[in-house]
Amino acid sequence: MAERKFIIRLNGLPVGNHLYEFKVDNTFFDTRDYSDIKGANVNVEVELLKQNNLINLTFNLSGTLSVLCDRCTKPYDVEIDSVEKMHLRFGNPDEPHAEDVFVLPHGENELDVSPPLYEFIALALPTRLVPCEEDETFVCDEETLNKLNNISVDEPEPKPETSIWDRLKNINNN
Ligand SMILES: [Zn+2]
Repeated sequence: MAERKFIIRLNGLPVGNHLYEFKVDNTFFDTRDYSDIKGANVNVEVELLKQNNLINLTFNLSGTLSVLCDRCTKPYDVEIDSVEKMHLRFGNPDEPHAEDVFVLPHGENELDVSPPLYEFIALALPTRLVPCEEDETFVCDEETLNKLNNISVDEPEPKPETSIWDRLKNINNN
């Protein structure tokens, strides 16, 4: 079920500019399976431009995501600051349409922005989460690191795409 707080009402919305504010916090990821993100504190400002049959949305996201270091699983916050756009028009969603346009059925009176928000947050997350390589003040958790290193001595080098979670899972299974 869509969370009411991420709904933009479309019926009766006049042509012109509208501004909305949303807050993505820890609860956002409680109901969504995104294992890389443990928490969030992201402010979202949505600029909406309504035209006759078209709606253009600009999402401004800024804040922090709580994640775990890829090397040692130590928690830390990563800052995100991104701008994403979304185009909507009313029509028949089953008819062919441009890929970058989201088609809403005629008469649809609200828009749930939580699916695009989820996607934009995932896009804003860096692919490599290894803060100790970039930030001198961040020190990896040596204890966990040593444990993980000891395991990799006995085992063939894990493939690069194997996440730390898969490796930990294998440890538990053994
Ligand atoms: Zn680390």
